[in-house]
Amino acid sequence: MTKLVIIGGGPAGNSCATYAARFGAEVVVIEDEIVGGAAHLLDCVPSKAMIATGGAMAFLRRSEGMGLEDVDPRIDPDALGQRLAGIRGRLSSSNISLLESQGVRIVHGRGALVDAHTVEATTADGTEIFEADVIVLSTGSRPRVPDWCEVDGDRILLTRDAYPPPVIPEHLVVVGSGVTGVEFVHMFDSFGSDVSLIVSRQQVLPGKDPEVAAVLEEDFLERGVRLLKGARATSISRSGSGVTVNCDDGRIVEGSHALVAIGSVPNSDGLGLDKAGVETDGGYVVVDADCRSSVPSVFAAGDLSGKLPLSSVASMQGRKIAETIMGRATHGLNQVDYDKAASAIFTEPEIADVGMAEADAFAEGRKIRVTKVPFATSAKALINDDPRGFIKILSDPATGVVLGGSIVGRHAAELIAVVSIAVTADLTVRDLYDSLLVHPTLAELITDAAE
Ligand SMILES: Cc1cc2nc3c(=O)[nH]c(=O)nc-3n(C[C@H](O)[C@H](O)[C@H](O)COP(=O)(O)OP(=O)(O)OC[C@H]3O[C@@H](n4cnc5c(N)ncnc54)[C@H](O)[C@@H]3O)c2cc1C
Repeated sequence: MTKLVIIGGGPAGNSCATYAARFGAEVVVIEDEIVGGAAHLLDCVPSKAMIATGGAMAFLRRSEGMGLEDVDPRIDPDALGQRLAGIRGRLSSSNISLLESQGVRIVHGRGALVDAHTVEATTADGTEIFEADVIVLSTGSRPRVPDWCEVDGDRILLTRDAYPPPVIPEHLVVVGSGVTGVEFVHMFDSFGSDVSLIVSRQQVLPGKDPEVAAVLEEDFLERGVRLLKGARATSISRSGSGVTVNCDDGRIVEGSHALVAIGSVPNSDGLGLDKAGVETDGGYVVVDADCRSSVPSVFAAGDLSGKLPLSSVASMQGRKIAETIMGRATHGLNQVDYDKAASAIFTEPEIADVGMAEADAFAEGRKIRVTKVPFATSAKALINDDPRGFIKILSDPATGVVLGGSIVGRHAAELIAVVSIAVTADLTVRDLYDSLLVHPTLAELITDAAE
């Protein structure tokens, strides 16, 4: 029987464990915090839960357009804290039940490699040694802590200090305008905080389609968010009852709190990678297309693999590794296609995309057909009193095969699923516009854009 030891019980580790056990492996998962990982405890899920609360508040405040009057919701930080704890608890319990139902042994402790086939777990009761045919490293990542300010978890925060925040800031200065930064801007603006965003380049969401970023910027400005473009924070200090953020262009921003969202670093310290001879790059484990490291018996999945840092990608990598090691893979067809991973930004309006982007096609000199439909043409968008945004579909002009798409607007993260399936299954625009959908729905916009 294949013996598999997994270090890290987030989406990558748990998915690998579940599938490998189902295929007949003897599996141990070593996790030192909560089963479910940072995804459930600290990052993905709590941030989306807070955004959902903020979204409900924002929706109620705008409800005049729905025929309601005088709705002014206020946040209850204690109730919000209980809500987050409840969600985490339920998700972690269901993860544990799933693993245990497949016969996976969960060890609560810190794992480290001893050599290419041995792992040591340090637990509350001492240490335990595990021999393995295969080892999977899935220890994730953590927020990057800047060396130019003292994060205190009180007024100068990292994202993980904000679930829920100690108080709802009067004026929050967000440093970092990537996906995490803009989601926190949206969240705290919805909670009623004044928000300033330090944007190091000339657009929020650097690297995203400028047309998409422009819709978000316009929304932020309408909501009164102050955007400081082309500025890099160089220091944040506490000043009386607030904070002062200094920027490299001389601008100074005063706020009640600051939140730093400037990326992440891998959890590879103390993992014994050098003992087993595992090659790394900037702390990330270097892996091939099968997620195998430079040591044949050691794989890495999730954020630690330095690929696309998404929970969905981590789970898929975990499943693919399980299939590979248990002989279930059809070689060549079993690797994760990162170019086809859908992703979303949970702002308002939501932003989601998948597959080829217009800028990439342009850079490659590839001919594409682009069709775009605004939400304002949808009956459902008007019923929802939210006509902001658009759907864009990219296809091959010769074959009609759907190559990618972007959606900006209400429920974009759900709607992109349809385009995602089309991209993964090489469906054509004809397949999409021949689909008979429910009316009135936002999804009809996708068939309109496919015409
Ligand atoms: C604010 C924020 C919001 C995000 N939102 C989304 C989103 O909406 N959608 C999305 O797809 N992704 C999102 N992500 C990314 C997502 O959270 C990560 O990609 C995902 O958590 C990676 O999963 P993982 O299994 O690699 O690691 P993790 O989820 O980080 O799990 C790793 C686990 O390993 C454990 N561990 C670490 N070292 C050891 C050790 N030595 N021994 C034992 N255990 C160890 C940790 O305690 C942890 O539980 C977000 C990230 C952030 C920061």
